[in-house]
Amino acid sequence: MSHVSRSRIQELDAGDPLAHARDRFTLPEGVIYLDGNSLGAMPKAAAGRVATTVEEEWGRGLIRSWNTADWIDLPRTVGEKIARLIGAASGTVVVADSTTLNLFKVLAVALSLRPDRRVILSEEGNFPTDLYIASGLADLLGKGHELRLVPPAQVAGAITSDVAVVMLTEVNYRTGFKRDMAGLTRMTHDAGALSLWDLAHSAGAFPVDLAGADADFAVGCGYKYLNGGPGAPAFAYVAPRFLAGLRQPLTGWLGHARPFAFAPNYEPAPGIDALRVGTPSVIGMSALDEALTAFDGIALVDLRRKADMLWDVFVSEVDGAAPELTPITPSDPALRGTQASFRHPEAYAIMQALIARGVIGDYREPDILRFGITPLYLRYIDVWKAARAIGEVMATRAWDTPEFKRKAKVV
Ligand SMILES: *Cc1c(COP(=O)(O)O)cnc(C)c1O
Repeated sequence: MSHVSRSRIQELDAGDPLAHARDRFTLPEGVIYLDGNSLGAMPKAAAGRVATTVEEEWGRGLIRSWNTADWIDLPRTVGEKIARLIGAASGTVVVADSTTLNLFKVLAVALSLRPDRRVILSEEGNFPTDLYIASGLADLLGKGHELRLVPPAQVAGAITSDVAVVMLTEVNYRTGFKRDMAGLTRMTHDAGALSLWDLAHSAGAFPVDLAGADADFAVGCGYKYLNGGPGAPAFAYVAPRFLAGLRQPLTGWLGHARPFAFAPNYEPAPGIDALRVGTPSVIGMSALDEALTAFDGIALVDLRRKADMLWDVFVSEVDGAAPELTPITPSDPALRGTQASFRHPEAYAIMQALIARGVIGDYREPDILRFGITPLYLRYIDVWKAARAIGEVMATRAWDTPEFKRKAKVV
């Protein structure tokens, strides 16, 4: 029933130039982890760094560590490391807060740069937090801003002269469909609007070229493909042309030009630091900082190449083993990120049955099974075995129990 033989899989693993990277991660025995698009696996170095941060820097260094361990500069030093992964120039990325909060900040900046326009354009099916924040900000501004949602296929045609900001997620979290960032940004600029990209499912998954695409603003997650750990801080990008005079509405003291002058009035820090708000979460930042070393010496094009090969093996094997699952992610690599999604009316229960067997992916409403392909720590044998497990769960109806149909708080 499978298309690829075990010996061919063994050959692929033996010849894998990225095979060594798996050793950089802690992966539990008996688990095939296909959810790195939701919470990246733990880089071993991150655990050691957290221990050092807690025991040495906090425990012994105490408050001195803001200077001696450079805690105060982490938002920028970690931002520089992420900049290299997303095609951003030095000084254009800062790490702070969550993706949700960063979106609020940069969307507010973008709207302020187009004061005579009132439309935030996005697509139906974009990640809810992005849409909630956009409509919340529109209400807060009280100037009649509108969040305009159009079906995915109609976005390009909807970039009209009343649009202030085109706010899109490069890779859709449900389907894995990937947008043409450069092309859409060009159309956005032609219409006199600004582009804001959510890179939640892009950063660390494949080469992103923010500068090449001439994107205006971007945000993204630290805990997905960047492996920064649960609730890791997020990043924000602002194109160099908007850095001078950058001002955002969450005017916290650490985004001040001179926080330790304790001046009575707010004055934004020059450049990207104006996106900082309050005291950074140092333990989380340190974990993310160290987690990024998992990318050392690895070219994102190579990562993407392996992701595509893993994807092909996985999807063709699932297709053979479980034809009742409907693939919904485009097979053309140019049109997708690195996840593979399938549709089935019993998707939730099927995923629970898989997780019980150690194959961890996730479920997304209303009927989607989602599997993340993360080539830093996945082998060909992993995706091959996962596809076999899916075939077994479907053939035996192992999912068809009340236990697997009961939804947990976090799905
Ligand atoms: C995961 C994800 C988020 C998460 O935002 P948080 O603030 O980290 O909770 C936001 N947007 C998209 C598109 C996502 O996929």
